[in-house]
Amino acid sequence: MSETFTSVSQEEAGFRQRARLSFDLDADICVIGAGLAGLSIALEAARLGASVAVLEGRHIGWNASGNQFGTVMPGFALPLTDLIERIGFEDAGELWSLSKEGAEFVRANATEENMPGIGLTDGVLEISNVDAGDRLISRLQMLNEDFDTEAEGWQVDRVRESLKTDRYFHGVYYPKAFQVDGRKYVHGLAALARRAGARIFEDTPVVSIDHSGIRKRIVTPSARLRASQIVLAGNIHLGAPLRRLSETLLPVWRYAGITAPLGERLHEIIGFKGSVMDSDGVDHFRIVDGDRLMWESPETTWAAQPRRFAGSVRRRIRSIFPELGDVEISEMFGGVTGQTVHGMPQIGQLRKGLWVASGFGRQGMNTSAMAGQLIARSILQGDERWKLFSPFELVWAGGITGRVAGQLVGMWGRASSAAAGSLARYRERARVKDREREARLAEANRAAGTGPRHPPAGIRPRMAPPAQPAAAEEAEPAAQEASREQGVSQ
Ligand SMILES: Cc1cc2nc3c(=O)[nH]c(=O)nc-3n(C[C@H](O)[C@H](O)[C@H](O)COP(=O)(O)OP(=O)(O)OC[C@H]3O[C@@H](n4cnc5c(N)ncnc54)[C@H](O)[C@@H]3O)c2cc1C
Repeated sequence: MSETFTSVSQEEAGFRQRARLSFDLDADICVIGAGLAGLSIALEAARLGASVAVLEGRHIGWNASGNQFGTVMPGFALPLTDLIERIGFEDAGELWSLSKEGAEFVRANATEENMPGIGLTDGVLEISNVDAGDRLISRLQMLNEDFDTEAEGWQVDRVRESLKTDRYFHGVYYPKAFQVDGRKYVHGLAALARRAGARIFEDTPVVSIDHSGIRKRIVTPSARLRASQIVLAGNIHLGAPLRRLSETLLPVWRYAGITAPLGERLHEIIGFKGSVMDSDGVDHFRIVDGDRLMWESPETTWAAQPRRFAGSVRRRIRSIFPELGDVEISEMFGGVTGQTVHGMPQIGQLRKGLWVASGFGRQGMNTSAMAGQLIARSILQGDERWKLFSPFELVWAGGITGRVAGQLVGMWGRASSAAAGSLARYRERARVKDREREARLAEANRAAGTGPRHPPAGIRPRMAPPAQPAAAEEAEPAAQEASREQGVSQ
């Protein structure tokens, strides 16, 4: 690929002359926010023939949408089993299909012809921090048979052949999941939406809306707009137009870094070419630009400069792939995602002609595309499938207290993931030592001419299951390892 992952062109990066709304305007649909959600809706609605105006307070892709990884998976932030528990098998199946349609929308648009340098490649690997092979089988069965999603189970050996670390156990490989240059995608979407006829105005914050009449009024500092439909796609920054809506989202800032070129050794250590993410949602990485490693890990519920987390990303890489040594982080980026209390996105009609598309959390590529399709098709074609999201109401995210709780829950999640991982690896080492000891004993018995029929007192027969280390004995080194890890992951 001749383009580099980081070489977003001047125009793409928003340095082109930005059009600000400076005159009053009428449109069928006014979309507030030019992130992935707003632009997906604008593109779909313009393609279906509506006149669309997008109003963006800063510039296209300014926040998370222009500073993200670009991994496209089916599903939602809410795990599939929880989704089934919440709304039943059938509706969960329909929502899951919609999420796959969202991913296909991205695939269809992210062609090299539409978006030069977008670099779409197939295959994503989800790996487990703990030895959970038994759970994996039922998950694979469910995905393949009940949810019509291609997924392949990888044994520990195969995972470790592809990723030279003992940190991970089993894996689920999704051959049809894919990745694109996440930071280029949003600008590609904007270009496609414009080409389809949508008008995008930047530096145009919406300061208030009046959604009571048939023709709704949208007020910006320099002009007014009238539209029959308003779509609120402002994520956590929506603010004044409907403050209560922003308060239903917990803001979570996520940060990622890109290393300096690492040469051939990177491929010797990381053989998998697509995105890799662990099943606890802590680490997410892939190789970009031939020999650089892009790594996403830290998150906070407070805004901070991404650069501050360079050391933490570096230490995280070293703790998982020690053979890479101390890598140099040459670039950091990040943005804030809006997470809902129930883990599902907010997609639907709040009142006649007033729509919301928000709360996409860390899985916004497919879900924002899905929102675009559902909302545009409902407005223009009467498609009512967005109602499948009705069980997921707007729930207040707890304000400042919610953020503190969110930070603590995040830290706790990372700590327990680290502890569970350390314990799983400790157990694995104990099993290996056990097997080695038994082999040595058998060898000694053979050399001494004694059979294994009567092992000496205190020695377990060979076929006995490997001993589990005593709880206190096993917990201590695992806890030490986990706390070392915690030290590097915050
Ligand atoms: C580091 C990182 C990595 C990620 N990796 C992935 C990944 O690999 N795969 C994946 O699926 N997801 C990923 N995500 C998540 C994904 O980026 C988000 O879910 C998605 O970008 C959210 O899009 P959005 O349009 O809802 O929000 P935003 O990107 O926040 O866009 C909202 C826009 O609305 C504008 N706005 C708000 N209020 C107003 C107003 N009043 N007037 C005018 N404009 C307004 C804002 O200025 C902003 O530009 C990642 C996120 C981060 C931070």
